[in-house]
Amino acid sequence: MTETADIVVIGGGIIGSSVVYQLAQLLDPSTRIVLCDRGPIAGATSSSCMGHLMVTPGNAQEYALTKTSVDLWRGLHEQLGGFDYNPTGALYLAESEEDIEMVPVLHQQFLDQGDQAEILDQKQLRDLEPGLAHDIPGALFYAGDGVVLPMLAAGAMLRGAQQRNPNVVVRPNCAVTGFQRDGDRIAAVVTEKSVIQTNTVVNACGVWTPGIGEMLGQPRVPIYPRAGNLAITGHHVSPIRTQLLEISYLRFAHAASDVDPTQTDRDAGGHAVNMQPQTNGGCLIGSTRQFRGMSKQVNRELLKRSLLRAHRYVPGVAQAPIIRSWVGLRPYSIDNHPLIGPWDPVPGFWIAAGHEGLGISMAPITGLLIAQQIAGITPSIDPTPYLPGRFAL
Ligand SMILES: Cc1cc2nc3c(=O)[nH]c(=O)nc-3n(C[C@H](O)[C@H](O)[C@H](O)COP(=O)(O)OP(=O)(O)OC[C@H]3O[C@@H](n4cnc5c(N)ncnc54)[C@H](O)[C@@H]3O)c2cc1C
Repeated sequence: MTETADIVVIGGGIIGSSVVYQLAQLLDPSTRIVLCDRGPIAGATSSSCMGHLMVTPGNAQEYALTKTSVDLWRGLHEQLGGFDYNPTGALYLAESEEDIEMVPVLHQQFLDQGDQAEILDQKQLRDLEPGLAHDIPGALFYAGDGVVLPMLAAGAMLRGAQQRNPNVVVRPNCAVTGFQRDGDRIAAVVTEKSVIQTNTVVNACGVWTPGIGEMLGQPRVPIYPRAGNLAITGHHVSPIRTQLLEISYLRFAHAASDVDPTQTDRDAGGHAVNMQPQTNGGCLIGSTRQFRGMSKQVNRELLKRSLLRAHRYVPGVAQAPIIRSWVGLRPYSIDNHPLIGPWDPVPGFWIAAGHEGLGISMAPITGLLIAQQIAGITPSIDPTPYLPGRFAL
């Protein structure tokens, strides 16, 4: 079968779903947008992750990206509903001396961006989060963070897109297998089910993004899977109310890795604890990081270390049985910034990928930046640092 589309989005994770949602908002409702995923919608990393909506204040650029996006999440929840969204705020916990020194530094970073955060003493900390061990020496509370359930959010965005534009087609279980070219440009996307004639394609395939580019004869963009082990407790009442994370998480998770991501047998991996209350009860516990290719086997040793840290901070969690553990693959880009924008060597080919451990947080702004650029509208924030062309040299 041959059909036509104005735009084909490949990959129905949280990023592809957000791209479709924002395209549907900005373009005329006659625009035919087809989303293809080779599996179920949000069936890959976007359902094997946590849902911390995190504002990172390290510098003006990353603050603009994450803050705008987390604010957009709030609006999406108000407009669309249909997914769990909990504005818990985030507590950054410090234990070691090195970590305690980070508390005022992080506090100042929020102030430098014109935002607010609160350094808490032990009493304030106990009042805010009674589930915490009583001897935590220091913590910072940032009220602007929250938690979502990403699989439901992806579905809500796609339903919202179809409500605004009846020409949005969502096609799960439909792998893209190749492309047809017309000179430099794309002429069609070849899928398992049809050939879709189109000039505009968005590659939102998470850790599989490089392989899609290769189908077009392009060099692999440097996105590598970075495994994270997670565990969830039974649906008892959650022992915590707030999104909790060790402050060292920032050092560990949000800096470019000094491990070569291609040396998958050499990365011993690391962890910093991250705990999330679930709206249906229970507590989601992570989070480890390790480069070891596409393997999704749980690394019991690393997971155990995370769980011990969780018990240290929240003793009550030891009473709740772990009912499931699993691995998700973060799409890590080699310079630790996502790729959002056109892939210049192939006109009409766009990339929205490489968000590592912040893809849920950054999904709304990613979709908006792609849609604004395709629609020829001035982007809400400067997209320059994220343009994929930095890897096309
Ligand atoms: C353990 C862990 C914890 C995390 N915690 C957080 C957090 O608290 N907060 C946060 O902001 N982020 C978090 N993340 C990061 C976040 O989950 C990811 O950045 C995000 O889910 C990536 O979304 P995506 O849409 O790019 O990729 P995916 O969800 O993997 O979607 C890509 C899609 O492309 C499809 N695809 C692949 N090849 C093809 C093909 N040939 N044809 C058609 N479709 C194809 C796949 O089937 C898949 O559905 C975490 C990640 C992990 C692993």
